[in-house]
Amino acid sequence: MSNALGLTRQADALPQSLAELLRESAVRTADKGQPDDEALEQLRRSGILAAAISAEHGGSGGDATVVNRIVEQLARVNPSAAIIAFQHFAVSMRIVEWGTPAQKALLLPALAAGDLLAASAWSELGVGAAKKKVNTTASRLPGAKWLLNGAKSFTTSAGIADVYLVLAQTSAVVDSESSYGSAGQSFFLVPAGNPGLVPERPLDLIGMRGSATGFVTLRDCELADHDRLGPEGHGSVIMAGVRETGATLGAVSVGIAQSLLDIAAVHIGKGDPARRLANRYRLADLATQVAAARALVAQAGRRASADPGLTTLHSKLFASAVAEHVGGEVGRMLGSAGFLADHELNRLVADARAISHMGPANDLCKELISASWSE
Ligand SMILES: Cc1cc2nc3c(=O)[nH]c(=O)nc-3n(C[C@H](O)[C@H](O)[C@H](O)COP(=O)(O)OP(=O)(O)OC[C@H]3O[C@@H](n4cnc5c(N)ncnc54)[C@H](O)[C@@H]3O)c2cc1C
Repeated sequence: MSNALGLTRQADALPQSLAELLRESAVRTADKGQPDDEALEQLRRSGILAAAISAEHGGSGGDATVVNRIVEQLARVNPSAAIIAFQHFAVSMRIVEWGTPAQKALLLPALAAGDLLAASAWSELGVGAAKKKVNTTASRLPGAKWLLNGAKSFTTSAGIADVYLVLAQTSAVVDSESSYGSAGQSFFLVPAGNPGLVPERPLDLIGMRGSATGFVTLRDCELADHDRLGPEGHGSVIMAGVRETGATLGAVSVGIAQSLLDIAAVHIGKGDPARRLANRYRLADLATQVAAARALVAQAGRRASADPGLTTLHSKLFASAVAEHVGGEVGRMLGSAGFLADHELNRLVADARAISHMGPANDLCKELISASWSE
């Protein structure tokens, strides 16, 4: 559907039927605060989840440009589905980068097919965005085994994922040099079927209410050494590599911002001529900012700048700020109608806020950017 301003609600990287289902699902899940099994099943079966994995491993891409474009288009119809897919793509990329041949052979084709959905369980209450020391521990057991204990918070796809990438402290070493993570940490791939992994019901969030974001407890969770992802103690190295891929949560923000523009574009023709003109100029300014955010996200995806990691951080910071700004401005443009609790605008505004909190949280992005100046 295209409107008089040439703004569009089309999500052309998605099959039309999936886009419609996800759009309806966004309304339902915002109401219930629970993930939508039917919509997620269709997402799994759509082939879209293969985007972060190259054809060599059963995927359809492996290119952050495509990943960012799909994430943006998912966010235009359903921001919760976009962050579920984003975490799936992120874990897929970590396995491509750090997986052993056996891990790649076992997991990547299933992740690409949507038979497995992946989640990232890094955060913990009270630990902080930089995750310099996490309270989840992984201790070695005889027979090349590990025992994990701890509690992860705000894990997107908790209870619906089939495999969790868990960050744990494997030694007391705290690396004071690193801005994000620490030398004493390692990553583990924990299957949902492991009896030591217990996801809880989704948290009652103000936004991203269909994202199944919740707690995951690790209680005497026994793993084999071959479930570790990457070398022992490589947690901070793996975390630092994330931004180098060019996949960015800024893409979610661009998708949300575009939907907000679309809402404003429908409204803009109403009212007296003077107000219509003022609103058109206001919307032109906002559309310019969204175009700039989209360009920065695309630049991050291409990894063609002098420092791709920095560009990824810039793109998240800028796009998330633009989406929040657009939400406020469109709210003012709509007048009191936009102040109704069940107006789509307010769901999107709450969804937009989530991105600045998600890892790396925006202030941590600023810390990482400024730290690069003194390197
Ligand atoms: C909807 C949603 C989905 C999420 N999904 C996931 C997920 O799938 N997996 C996962 O692991 N986590 C997830 N998170 C959690 C998110 O990654 C954390 O909230 C984030 O890392 C911030 O940590 P914190 O809440 O402990 O903030 P705090 O550390 O308490 O931060 C508070 C403020 O201080 C700033 N700050 C903290 N440390 C620094 C620093 N070193 N330098 C500069 N500023 C700093 C932060 O930017 C923030 O503004 C999700 C969060 C939300 C809201």
